Amino acid sequence: MRLSRSLIPTMKENPAEAQIASHRLMLRAGLVRQTASGIYAWLPAGWKVLQNIARIVAEEQEAVGAQAMLMPTIQSADLWKQSGRYDAYGPEMLRLADRHGRELLYGPTNEEMLTDLVRQSVKSYRDLPQILFHIQWKFRDEMRPRFGVMRGREFLMKDAYSFDLDYEGAVVSYRKMMLAYMRTFQRLGVKAIPMVADTGPIGGDLSHEFIILAPTGESQVFYDAAYDDMDFTKEAVDHNAPADLERFFNEVTHHYAATDEKHDEPVWAKVANQREGRGIEVGHIFYFGTKYAEPMGLTVAGRDGTSVIPHMGSYGVGVSRLVGALIEAHHDEAGIIWPDSVAPFKAVILNLKVGDAGCDALCEAAYAAFKGEALYDDRDDRAGAKFADADLMGHPWQIVVGPRGAKAGMVELKRRATGEKLELSLADALAKIG
Ligand code: ATP
Ligand code: MG
Repeated sequence: MRLSRSLIPTMKENPAEAQIASHRLMLRAGLVRQTASGIYAWLPAGWKVLQNIARIVAEEQEAVGAQAMLMPTIQSADLWKQSGRYDAYGPEMLRLADRHGRELLYGPTNEEMLTDLVRQSVKSYRDLPQILFHIQWKFRDEMRPRFGVMRGREFLMKDAYSFDLDYEGAVVSYRKMMLAYMRTFQRLGVKAIPMVADTGPIGGDLSHEFIILAPTGESQVFYDAAYDDMDFTKEAVDHNAPADLERFFNEVTHHYAATDEKHDEPVWAKVANQREGRGIEVGHIFYFGTKYAEPMGLTVAGRDGTSVIPHMGSYGVGVSRLVGALIEAHHDEAGIIWPDSVAPFKAVILNLKVGDAGCDALCEAAYAAFKGEALYDDRDDRAGAKFADADLMGHPWQIVVGPRGAKAGMVELKRRATGEKLELSLADALAKIG
């Protein structure tokens, strides 16, 4: 993209309404704009980040055998009456009526809808297990929307649902999701710690929250330092082998990790390498047995011909919350520092003298080489303003082209995360970025 022709409205001043770094930086870097309380429009650069996160989340879901699909945002109230949640859910649910007076709602989650879809088509134990997921907008009329996209009212969630013949099968599905989550967060460039959680309104007894460490997090967390060193890219786990999954699961969950709600002082006292911090919840997984299948009448023919109620789990990731959480974990005084995996652009090309034939030609050559994956700052503006915006927007690499270097075909390459700068030919700079 050429910055002169893009809607990336950066701001020099801190917006008064933003209390935390990620909210300030998302507004200042021109990623989002609020359109109503807790409801955000994703401007072009922000939308790229959101899609990059969604893509990684989806790839890791598919890697453990979950199937991608898409369910609608608008749901019929009837299904929620069948599960008994229509009344139980309370004022967080946005209730609507169509022109015929039929009751609808904007989905806060999709257990009922998918239970209904599976009920229509899955009839036998041979059709199980099934794990399905979608990445779709949710609406929850939060009492206090705050911190930008971290606690919005409309937000993007990855929600997966598993259906197994029995408890043992459901545990295998649950562990697959644990594996997918640990890999996802590592690819996103953040450390997320799995913590045993209360099961909340969805119910059940096997549940973990995934918490990213950041000083502005909503909860206090206590954890074993062992989590600082875990590397899941090296994990050789065959996700179809239950024994392998069990070993992996025990390894990632056996260290102490708890939020303040679940904190156990006597157990904590025995942890040798204690770490404390604040954390942001970015994911939550639950096993909830037959809680929906039973009232909604989902049954399949079991191996011996008798009718069996499948065991279910659901697995959420806050995709839009992650944009804010990643910034909380990766920023400095000057702005955002995107992990390479989610950055809206691989690099920014800074033309320090627009109109200078040498600068223009070298910048155009660099821009063409990226095939759309770079942002070209071709604005007729001061160098200082361009440097400040590049740091603010957080592109992993900056290619700086000035008139003197351009004559010799040289650029300055800066790595945003470290501040390291190198004088290189354009070809060498491109090779280094890869
Ligand atoms: P919280 O305790 O933060 O309200 P929750 O327990 O209601 O979260 P879940 O129902 O488990 O959340 O939803 C799955 C994920 O969706 C959460 O882990 C979180 O990352 C994200 N999420 C939930 N509510 C919001 C929101 N209002 N804005 C943005 N993301 C959200
Ligand atoms: Mg909530």
